[in-house]
Amino acid sequence: MTALLIDGALIARKLLEELRPRVAALTAGGTKPGLAAILVGDNAASEVYVRNKIRACSDLGLKSDVHRLAANCSEDELIALIEKLNRTPDIHGILLQLPLPTHLDAERTTRHINAAKDVDGFSWENLGALVAGHPQLAPCTALGVMAMIDHEGLKVEGADAVVVGRSVAVGKPTALMLIARGATVTVCTSKTRDLARHTRNADIVVVAVGKPGTVNGGMLKPGAAVFDVGINRLADGKITGDVDFASASAVASRITPVPGGVGRMTVATLIANTVSAAENFVKAKV
Ligand code: NAP
Repeated sequence: MTALLIDGALIARKLLEELRPRVAALTAGGTKPGLAAILVGDNAASEVYVRNKIRACSDLGLKSDVHRLAANCSEDELIALIEKLNRTPDIHGILLQLPLPTHLDAERTTRHINAAKDVDGFSWENLGALVAGHPQLAPCTALGVMAMIDHEGLKVEGADAVVVGRSVAVGKPTALMLIARGATVTVCTSKTRDLARHTRNADIVVVAVGKPGTVNGGMLKPGAAVFDVGINRLADGKITGDVDFASASAVASRITPVPGGVGRMTVATLIANTVSAAENFVKAKV
């Protein structure tokens, strides 16, 4: 079998185009959706991610600002900026680009973002809403994976799914979304004794680990759909995922490439969350 490629760039473009009328309606009503990105320090990858997000905002007619803090800024300075943005009426989404320098606690600082503006979906309110089955602003990468699954017309209800990785940012929310849709979900971690024993049973495999080659073709059920969330920079500068693409694409029915896969979706779903946050803001005013 040679897997079909799941084209993240194409699906993300479609998702962004679907947002255009919603942005136009908001803007016509006097509310231009606004995203504020906070960038701490000078991490080169973070610069690229933020640039892509800001470009997507301007392509779609959203307002966007980047707020830069020095790498040695204090946690109080960062929290003061977040609280100022919480009070800024024309900002509907706040994005704190991770990772932060090691002296700053990402979880503690993120918790200061008002849940209504938490377009990354990492606040306890938004994560709790997802656990309770009433998602509000949900984590973007997990939303991106689910949008790809839907775009490909994959049946989730009754499917056996394996999520490799249990991070709050990716693994756990993806597992929760799959559970909500009726999949039977196994979550594997660094402590899992025999990863292949689990992945070999799965119709849907989502890998979010951060280690190239975590899953290869020999660990897959023929015909599985594979979503590779990993982004790893190799010694030669090339970007690769967590899945061994060559062997996996010989066994899977569908697979996401890296780059050009899930990463493209994460930007689109962030913009979708910002538009939803602006719509919620308007609804709350009337
Ligand atoms: P993370 O917080 O470091 O979590 C990694 C998870 O992988 C942990 O739960 C860990 O288990 C698990 N793990 C580590 N080694 C494993 C192994 N050998 N077998 C099974 N599980 C293992 O990372 P993350 O934030 O979820 O990100 C994961 C990857 O996705 C990274 O490459 C990141 O750059 C990428 N990413 C991509 C996007 C995108 O838009 N495409 C977005 C976010 C992240 P323990 O909990 O037991 O340690």
